[in-house]
Amino acid sequence: MAIRPIHITGSPVLHQRAEEVRIFDQSLAELVDDMFETMDKAPGVGLAAPQIGVGLRVFTYDYPDDEDQERRGVIINPVLELGEIINEPADEDTELEGCLSVPGERFPLKRAESVKIRGVDLQQMPVEIEATGWFARVFQHEFDHLDGKLYVDRLAEPWKEISAEVILERGWGKPGVTWLPGLDNLED
Ligand code: ZN
Repeated sequence: MAIRPIHITGSPVLHQRAEEVRIFDQSLAELVDDMFETMDKAPGVGLAAPQIGVGLRVFTYDYPDDEDQERRGVIINPVLELGEIINEPADEDTELEGCLSVPGERFPLKRAESVKIRGVDLQQMPVEIEATGWFARVFQHEFDHLDGKLYVDRLAEPWKEISAEVILERGWGKPGVTWLPGLDNLED
């Protein structure tokens, strides 16, 4: 088990489609272990493999569902079905999203209120989850990572431009910038 450095926006692996997992072996199990440890230490509510530099379609999550039940797991090779996205501006108080690859920043983003996600776990057993509210948002966010998309790529103006300025000011948006949970504190 190890905490792995988290790649910051600009790292190419974050901006390209991740590959399907085909081999379910010990190294995949170790990757998932490290993802849980890194996510917990960050701390984050989800972590996708590309965020630690691995271009595979895997993400972990740890978040309460709308019934306040703690949900924690891994989904491999997910397929996402989106519910309706209401065509309104995002609420600047209640729809602020963040990302460990754009650490310490938050911007409002409209997401689908509900999703259905299907995939497999480490034992290749089917996983199927229907989620609403913020739990659904976590899945949309992590699934996007596997398609090389960050939430800042989806922002509406003025947030799109503001986020681009912040990324530039902080010296991000180029390859090779990472942070290590537990060592670097980028929340300030
Ligand atoms: Zn993220």
